[in-house]
Amino acid sequence: MAEERAPSPATRPEGAGRAHPARRAHDAPGGGQRWSEVEVHEYKAEGEAPFREVTRQVLFDDPDLACQVRYFEVAPGGWSTLERHEHVHAVVVLRGRGMALVDGTVFDVGLNDLVSVGPMAWHQFRAGADEPLGFLCVVNHERDRPQLPSEADLAALRVDPTVAAFLAS
Ligand code: MN
Repeated sequence: MAEERAPSPATRPEGAGRAHPARRAHDAPGGGQRWSEVEVHEYKAEGEAPFREVTRQVLFDDPDLACQVRYFEVAPGGWSTLERHEHVHAVVVLRGRGMALVDGTVFDVGLNDLVSVGPMAWHQFRAGADEPLGFLCVVNHERDRPQLPSEADLAALRVDPTVAAFLAS
């Protein structure tokens, strides 16, 4: 994702010395984790890559950190894009339950679980049918664009029946 380099007002307010250092968490009406002064975006631009029912919030985007901390929330029945890239992810589950595919392994994920996604590992997160899946994802600020699977990549992934079942779910 080609996000702008300059910090947004939400992540480093003008006159940061006087701004309150905390941005408070709250639940959105109808569910969903929100924070004051943090905008809720679509996960990705429509048509950029396949996904369903995912929102993206950038919680920390300070150039001095050299990383971004984002919060993604996948609504019940939704899923993130199946993708891979050279940059790595550090994921902390903060809400709900779901399933993940990382580098050929399919597993349940739930509250407070930590998930590491290594370089060029195919990965996807799916919420449960009746539960959202919300997670923090830390990434380097400078990073390569995600790659989507070719038909040959998908065929190779589907050789494993557990992975095939996950991708078909
Ligand atoms: Mn990714």
